Amino acid sequence: MKAMALDFDARTLDWCELDPPEFYASRDVLYRIHEVGVCGTDRALASFKLGAPPKGETKLVLGHEALGQVIDTGGGVTSLNKGDWVAPTVRRACKPACESCARGRRDLCVSGRYTERGILCLNGYFTERAVDSEVDLIRVPLKLVDFGVLIEPLSVAEKAVARALAVHEGEPRTALVLGLGPIGMLAAMALKARGYAVRVQSLEAADHPRAAILRLQDIPYVQGLSGSADIVVEATGSTEAALFALGQMPPLGVMIVLGATDGAGPVPFLRMIVNNQTVVGSVNADGQAFRAAVEDLARFDRRALALLITRTRFSDLKKSLTGAISVAPKIVHVV
Ligand code: BGC
Repeated sequence: MKAMALDFDARTLDWCELDPPEFYASRDVLYRIHEVGVCGTDRALASFKLGAPPKGETKLVLGHEALGQVIDTGGGVTSLNKGDWVAPTVRRACKPACESCARGRRDLCVSGRYTERGILCLNGYFTERAVDSEVDLIRVPLKLVDFGVLIEPLSVAEKAVARALAVHEGEPRTALVLGLGPIGMLAAMALKARGYAVRVQSLEAADHPRAAILRLQDIPYVQGLSGSADIVVEATGSTEAALFALGQMPPLGVMIVLGATDGAGPVPFLRMIVNNQTVVGSVNADGQAFRAAVEDLARFDRRALALLITRTRFSDLKKSLTGAISVAPKIVHVV
């Protein structure tokens, strides 16, 4: 099988030949990969900023956003059949399992020994076929196949929204999303679908095509930093933007941090104390967030969803990983 891999010894990113995946456990599902998406994490991996190859190997096949179709199932598989469409989850439990992994919440792994397909110590989906246990696959309803590749990034946004709502102790009405990347846009769509008055802020000009996709759904977009909201989802990678919004958050405000890197700046602790505010870090997604992603995909504006994706050839993968950032929010490669 053709696969796009990082070689951690040679420090190169290139196509390689991979043996077909082994299909042995009774709950295993063999599926053909149809589409793969590229995100900021893949681009960071491609420049060796994170990630690690499987134990004892030097190469890591990248790719963690995928849509596939089942080719074959093991004898113990009860939830999927040949021909079903699936989206894999990313994280796998640590072994021996910590208390979070043991209760099915690998997204909250506390040992730090978890693995992630296409990111950390497990080969990913930038290839032709894959095998996963049925418990690691999300069934994609036929009517959502066109957008199934968005389930994984949307699950990350769904977990963020769920955490914000779980933590907020009042009645949040307004929401602010920082960042016009796919996670930011999907988080804004999820908040809008739940009835929050949501707006998005980022660096891109007001007439950027991504802003037009938001406007189509009555989600305002503002260039630059201004104000804050009851719920803030940081999906920019900018510490400055996060601290700016934090400094203006209303009482009981909750900020979910998804992308900001370490950085210096004034952290308004006293203001946070007297206003009962919370900052929450969030990564990966749990089963509930994946289910929410499937439900939301079904109710999001299909015109907007179609505009989020630009499809291109599998052979162009390297360009998306190392070239200029695309205008389209989500580049999807058809395998
Ligand atoms: C993925 C998550 C993963 C995280 C950290 C993100 O791009 O969507 O599933 O946990 O990277 O590796």
